[in-house]
Amino acid sequence: MVSPTREYCKRCGKIGLGDFHSPIWKEVAGPVWEHSCLCVWCFGVLGDERGIAWEAGLVWRPLSLVNHLAAESE
Ligand SMILES: [Zn+2]
Repeated sequence: MVSPTREYCKRCGKIGLGDFHSPIWKEVAGPVWEHSCLCVWCFGVLGDERGIAWEAGLVWRPLSLVNHLAAESE
């Protein structure tokens, strides 16, 4: 049994369910979080707190644990 190696969100502690990229990452994450790993949920919450339309240009690639582990063991 391989233990999960997916990154945990530094803000809420939940495991990340895939990668996401945003052209306005710095603006939404702000100086506190811009160098941390965040989940897409926290990204949305931070964007809402700052009054930013955070979904603009957002690309999210969900990845299930089973396929994450399969990709790692290749
Ligand atoms: Zn989070």
